[in-house]
Amino acid sequence: MEDCIFCKIGKGQISSDIIYEDDKVVAFNDVNPQAPIHFLVIPKEHIESANNINNNNCHLISHIYIVIARLAKELEIAEDGYRIVNNCGEFGGQTVPHIHFHVLADRKFSWPPG
Ligand code: 5GP
Ligand code: ZN
Repeated sequence: MEDCIFCKIGKGQISSDIIYEDDKVVAFNDVNPQAPIHFLVIPKEHIESANNINNNNCHLISHIYIVIARLAKELEIAEDGYRIVNNCGEFGGQTVPHIHFHVLADRKFSWPPG
């Protein structure tokens, strides 16, 4: 999608600190980290938010979770645990309208969220 910052990152048109990439997804470090480890995983295909997941694109979401499990092992955060966050819409705190999964790690997180 034109003018979508995460589509541009997915296409390599905007530089980012990429930690994993394949034909379907990209994982890159968040520019404004909220934890010692904070990266985002996005599908290269434009999906606006969790509201737009359907039978045709859900394989991308399951693939994102497989990639997260693999990266968690590689980054040695799997055992201690981590937080996966997918903000949806205004009340959910979504600021970039291209679905993304935050992975935050290397510190303890509280619950409930603010
Ligand atoms: P949201 O608030 O939509 O759940 O999260 C958007 C996230 O994207 C924020 O944590 C923000 O720091 C990050 N972000 C926004 N623009 C960029 C960018 O151009 N590069 C990177 N690496 N992260 C970005
Ligand atoms: Zn997009």
